[in-house]
Amino acid sequence: MTLSILYRGPLSSCNYSCNYCPFAKRKDSRETLERDAAQLARFVTFVQEQADIQFKILFTPWGEALIRKYYQEAMVTLSLLPNVERVAIQTNLSCKLGWLKKADKTKLALWTTYHPGETSRTAFLEQCRQLDAMEVSYSVGVVGFKEAITEIEHLRAALPPERYLWINAQKKLANYYTAEETATLLSIDPYVVNNMIHYDSYGKACKTGHTVISLDGDGNMFRCHFIKEKIGNIYEQHFREALFPRTCTNATCGCHIGYVHMDDLKLYALYQGRELERIILK
Ligand code: SF4
Ligand code: SF4
Repeated sequence: MTLSILYRGPLSSCNYSCNYCPFAKRKDSRETLERDAAQLARFVTFVQEQADIQFKILFTPWGEALIRKYYQEAMVTLSLLPNVERVAIQTNLSCKLGWLKKADKTKLALWTTYHPGETSRTAFLEQCRQLDAMEVSYSVGVVGFKEAITEIEHLRAALPPERYLWINAQKKLANYYTAEETATLLSIDPYVVNNMIHYDSYGKACKTGHTVISLDGDGNMFRCHFIKEKIGNIYEQHFREALFPRTCTNATCGCHIGYVHMDDLKLYALYQGRELERIILK
């Protein structure tokens, strides 16, 4: 049995200050960080103990977790477990990277996001070069604000051609992009159209709740990050009974970490096993 888990603990803080983000420069109390670390350690033990499950894990923190040593250590430990197929994390890539040398780099991956204004393109690319030198798998992404398009073009030009660069399209406003801007985004990320719409998902088959779940730090299981109905708890004995095929109960789904699991979209074929870390191999 294979189970993909999107894990989000209580941490909600970041060292960057993106002006659109509720976690910008937010700090966690020492108590919250201690609770986050303890819950993460419990989760790692849980994964170790479920030897008959092959896990794919994506950490989706509210903020930046990879600047915390305990996340780095958890990533290394999980990557070395025989029953972990993949462990990945969403990160702004601001942390030091030497710890990655201890991980099984065939199984660890990073979902990195470049935030123009928070770091320089040069500094971000230097981090990417270090990842390349260590043969760490990673995707690179950018939020597709209009005013960032020129910078995204520069980033694309500077990255190795084989490195997929995804763009999170802005879709709150209808017709946000001009035809010319859309064409530019498509020339950078040929799959950006997948991210330009809110999919009608109600009643549609979605792997979440069956082979993909979302977890909070207490082990509470949800089918995805967008449907807040608890379906079980991994620290209870019969948690596997909560895993069965379901259809979506939300009207729409518009985030990669959600819609990528919708059966109709057939996106697993595009990502070839790298859907959690959002890597498309060229
Ligand atoms: S790096 Fe991410 S979490 Fe941090 S402020 Fe920017 S958008 Fe928010
Ligand atoms: S389609 Fe999206 S919102 Fe609906 S169950 Fe799947 S991930 Fe959740």
